[in-house]
Amino acid sequence: MTFESSNRTLALIVEDDRPVRTFITATLGAHGFDTLVAETGTEGVTLAYRRVPDVILLDMGLPDIDGMDVLTRIRAGLDVPIIIVSARDNERAKVSALDAGADDYLNKPFGTGELLARIRVSLRHAQRARQTSVSHHPSETVEIGRLLFDHERRCVSIEGTPVHLTPIEFRLLDELVVHRGKVLTHAHLVDRVWGPGQHVDRHNVRVFMATLRRKLERNMDGVRLIETEVGVGYRLRDS
Ligand code: CA
Repeated sequence: MTFESSNRTLALIVEDDRPVRTFITATLGAHGFDTLVAETGTEGVTLAYRRVPDVILLDMGLPDIDGMDVLTRIRAGLDVPIIIVSARDNERAKVSALDAGADDYLNKPFGTGELLARIRVSLRHAQRARQTSVSHHPSETVEIGRLLFDHERRCVSIEGTPVHLTPIEFRLLDELVVHRGKVLTHAHLVDRVWGPGQHVDRHNVRVFMATLRRKLERNMDGVRLIETEVGVGYRLRDS
């Protein structure tokens, strides 16, 4: 898997836990990545700015400075996708990191498939963001499984059967489609769908999402399009 056809993808791994670090570097090395490692947060920030990697895997529990601090320092100057590596039950930290500009997260322990999938989605999203930096939305029609999403014509269909969505439902789906494969937090969705500064109850978002999911997944034979990541947010499948 290469990001740009002529260049190998460079991944920076900021992780003090040796077995995790070894697993990530070995896996990525076997899949065509170049890797850089930092064992402390300070070293991670320095390497990020010096080498400007294509993707960063950032452990939240580091020996010197907090992972959140590393994230904000990198995010202050670099657009590179950052994937948080975190303990499974630390939902609050994940949400804070995502809202502070992290692209996604991995729960420890994670496997090869999950690691590569998260990186692939983040790289693709970064590439898409660069290509469509002027207009937020690519004009192309997006196909995800049986779902066909046409932003320009505001058409949504499942296997050719139109799905009628309310304006809020459409905007929710639109945001999920733009960020397909990535987890989106409650704050992100409220900001983009209802508007900056709006206060929308978590429960309300859940209700809208449940209706949207019911409409989309009605004729899907049990296939899930929208995944709920409990305590964190929602993720639309990317294929
Ligand atoms: Ca750690």
